[in-house]
Amino acid sequence: MAHYRRVQTEAQFRKCDSCGETLFVNELDKAFSVCKICGHHFQLCAWRRIEISLDPNSFQEINGNLESLDPLEFKGKRSYLERIKEAQRKTGLKEAVVCGIGTIGGGKVVLAVMDFQFIGGSMGSVVGEKITRAIEHSTANALPVIIFCCSGGARMDEGILSLMQMAKTSAALYYHDQAGLLCITVLTHPTLAGVSASYAFLGDIIIAEPKAMIGFTGARVIEQTIKKKLPEGFQESEFQLRHGQIDMVVERKNMHEMLHKLLDFAAGGGAARSPVAAGERAAAVAKSKPKVKKRSKKI
Ligand SMILES: [Zn+2]
Repeated sequence: MAHYRRVQTEAQFRKCDSCGETLFVNELDKAFSVCKICGHHFQLCAWRRIEISLDPNSFQEINGNLESLDPLEFKGKRSYLERIKEAQRKTGLKEAVVCGIGTIGGGKVVLAVMDFQFIGGSMGSVVGEKITRAIEHSTANALPVIIFCCSGGARMDEGILSLMQMAKTSAALYYHDQAGLLCITVLTHPTLAGVSASYAFLGDIIIAEPKAMIGFTGARVIEQTIKKKLPEGFQESEFQLRHGQIDMVVERKNMHEMLHKLLDFAAGGGAARSPVAAGERAAAVAKSKPKVKKRSKKI
């Protein structure tokens, strides 16, 4: 009985990681998982993020069936494939990013949303491939792309293959940019390492959630390397905004409205950003692509 009661309590309440306040899970969910006392932004799962960011029922997933293989047959304490299977069971996701098409204020966008609960939101071949395909889809259809980042970095179980995703996603964003299309990245807690060093910081507009940890590597490693004391909170959104690294810090409850405003602004911002002109540019860029070997579709 005692055990039963404890489980019930855990399901109804959650302690704030920042101020320690006990919060009703129901209320917390209604408040977009933001603490009503201190404003702490809890991590969100990908599907909840999609739900609160897009117009209701507008999301259609693309490439949802891609799953990781184990190209290096990597074995740590457990095999890589076991870790994948466990993450899939825990999250109900196939991989650490969900991509698709939806609308914001009626305007079509391509969306990629990372989920930290899936092996720390790490970027392996499938995450890189899904994000690349999402960007390529938006380039081909002259659409803006929004990427919600949340990652500890590259997935080292895939070694160099995970690091290669940095170049692949960056190249896809280059063509998207050349087509005159808008990319917005939203950095949520945490956005680190290989993800911050690639697409997270390649947005035309870079937004962050309050107090998100953003950086390449942890403070201790940097201090040991440069042998200097680092300023308080130097990896938080607010510090990065003051120092010009990002464009704005937006609270979660205002995110949908802000994205709507930015998309409207970009769409009305002259011929260069209009869908027709962007479509023509996309076609011109596609023609001018350097002759490179076509990428294998195999993961
Ligand atoms: Zn709190």
